[in-house]
Amino acid sequence: MIPFLDFTSMNEAIKKELLPSFENFIDKGWYILGDQVKQFEKDYAEYCTTKYCAGVANGLDALIIALKVLGVGKGDEVIVPSNTYIASWLAVSYVGATPVPVEPRIETYNINPDKIESAITSKTKAIMPVHLYGQCCEMEAIMQIAKKHNLYVVEDNAQAQGAAFNGKRTGSFGNINATSFYPGKNLGAFGDAGAITTNDESLLTKSTTFRNYGSQKKYFNEIKGINSRLDELQAGFLSIKLKHLNAWTAERNTLANLYINLLKDVTEITLPATANGASHVYHLFVIRTNKRDELQNFLTQNGIGTLIHYPVPPHLQEAYQELGYKKGDFPLAEQIAETCLSLPMFPGLKEEEVIQVCNTIKQFFHA
Ligand SMILES: *Cc1c(COP(=O)(O)O)cnc(C)c1O
Repeated sequence: MIPFLDFTSMNEAIKKELLPSFENFIDKGWYILGDQVKQFEKDYAEYCTTKYCAGVANGLDALIIALKVLGVGKGDEVIVPSNTYIASWLAVSYVGATPVPVEPRIETYNINPDKIESAITSKTKAIMPVHLYGQCCEMEAIMQIAKKHNLYVVEDNAQAQGAAFNGKRTGSFGNINATSFYPGKNLGAFGDAGAITTNDESLLTKSTTFRNYGSQKKYFNEIKGINSRLDELQAGFLSIKLKHLNAWTAERNTLANLYINLLKDVTEITLPATANGASHVYHLFVIRTNKRDELQNFLTQNGIGTLIHYPVPPHLQEAYQELGYKKGDFPLAEQIAETCLSLPMFPGLKEEEVIQVCNTIKQFFHA
């Protein structure tokens, strides 16, 4: 059995560091917005090379808060990738704005900067690049377009903590950026968690106010906020895990390179490609093949776990019927949804296991 994801060995290796944090948490008896959250916000901002970070309850809230504090709302349009996890779109909808999809480059799966300008209208307020599967978007081109058209940029950095473009880290390009520490992400909590990062002090203040009922001073509410706070307990764990993130990313890259080497001669498969200047943290290792469903079945029969990220692009989801899109409107997103397959990828996955996955894939195509 080779599972799609298994964090037991990764967690086992740091258990000795995590347990004192848990004990400290119990002894101190401070549960919400205390020292641990402050410390993690400092640590994560430093990691992203931004001035500020605000911890929030999850990645979707982080995106919503980012758009909200920029003043994006009803009547506005936000440019989003046509192929992303639906959360990116939902955040735009939640603040009352309209997601405007732009197709990816088929090689990298990330939004194609060459196609952004034609989607800009007088209503466009922001561009939301999503560093999909762990690869940093072509941020220099995107920032230039945003500057030229006077648009905000909000990075959806849920999948790519630690990735970079020409050495500059994800989460540090946009006006305000969102990330998720959902347990399965590269930096995962032991439950739901998320954060925003920014260099803009006023956006930080608006965010910390909004996440806490619209209040900075207890029982005095400046705006109608929400409750979306990062737990002390999760923050304590996240600070510890953050110290290991670069080593885990290196491990993911080693495994990805092994997959690429072993599968490069299998002509029926398209391997992930990385854009010039971009780095990849392989949140997911996604291949494409026209025989995707058959291959997935074969791997399942052979005890190998895989997943599809994502089987239905947002424009074809029932939830987005209102936008009136139909099959064929975003052919690249649809093609990716029909052909993509995510292979096992996690720190602790063994090289022998990658070899076994690749041999099983070769056996399928040669049979
Ligand atoms: C996971 C994810 C989110 C949402 O994060 P949650 O913490 O699950 O709310 C947003 N965008 C992308 C691209 C994601 O992968």
